[in-house]
Amino acid sequence: MPRVLIVEDEQHLADGLRFNLEADGYEVEVVDNGEAALRLLEPPAPGYDLLILDVMLPGKDGFEIAGELRQSGRFIPILMLTARGRPEDVLRGFAAGADDYLPKPFELAILIARIHGLLRRHDWLRRSQASSPAPDVFEFSGKSIDFDKLQLRAGGRTLPLTLMEANLLRYLIRHENKAVSRKAMLEEVWGVREDTDTRAIDNFIVRLRRYIEENPARPRHLLTVRGIGYRFLAAPAATGQEE
Ligand code: CA
Repeated sequence: MPRVLIVEDEQHLADGLRFNLEADGYEVEVVDNGEAALRLLEPPAPGYDLLILDVMLPGKDGFEIAGELRQSGRFIPILMLTARGRPEDVLRGFAAGADDYLPKPFELAILIARIHGLLRRHDWLRRSQASSPAPDVFEFSGKSIDFDKLQLRAGGRTLPLTLMEANLLRYLIRHENKAVSRKAMLEEVWGVREDTDTRAIDNFIVRLRRYIEENPARPRHLLTVRGIGYRFLAAPAATGQEE
């Protein structure tokens, strides 16, 4: 039974979430502030599978909580509940380490679908780690991505990756040299099939470029393909890159 930790200070919403998730077969714990959530997630954590994190909270807000968890190497999947789905909130959420977001107010069915998607992908990752004794590392152009540890090494720095960042990188790497559409990325990486705003993808790409490009404004590995999406090149030619 998957265990979900909910951080939500609006009592009605928290009660509704708990009721519906429990009806859906989840074990649910609710806290109304971020500090309590951080304490519950202290290692050795009691093993929550997913964190549903409100942004507007008394004390530390959701951005700070997500940031602290990621900086201390805790990579529980985070579904962030943003106030209005404003692009700046969404971007801040992803920058802090959220794996997915849902603007309030939301349809419960959509929330449940997002939770399923996050847990399914996390499960795949765990299973693929368990079944591959060889380290799952991709090296390119003096950088390396460790998909087991969710770490990127570039320019002497080691950066933690969120699950979504790692999954997106893996997808792009698997389709190296090919243009992949935003729609395909949403379907294959996020498991989202309904009509969805694809800006979240662009936010991820902006962030990944900051990680892997010497000059994010002139990317050489993560190229924009106009009108389609993106293309990954492990070993770009020295000159003459398009876009
Ligand atoms: Ca709130």
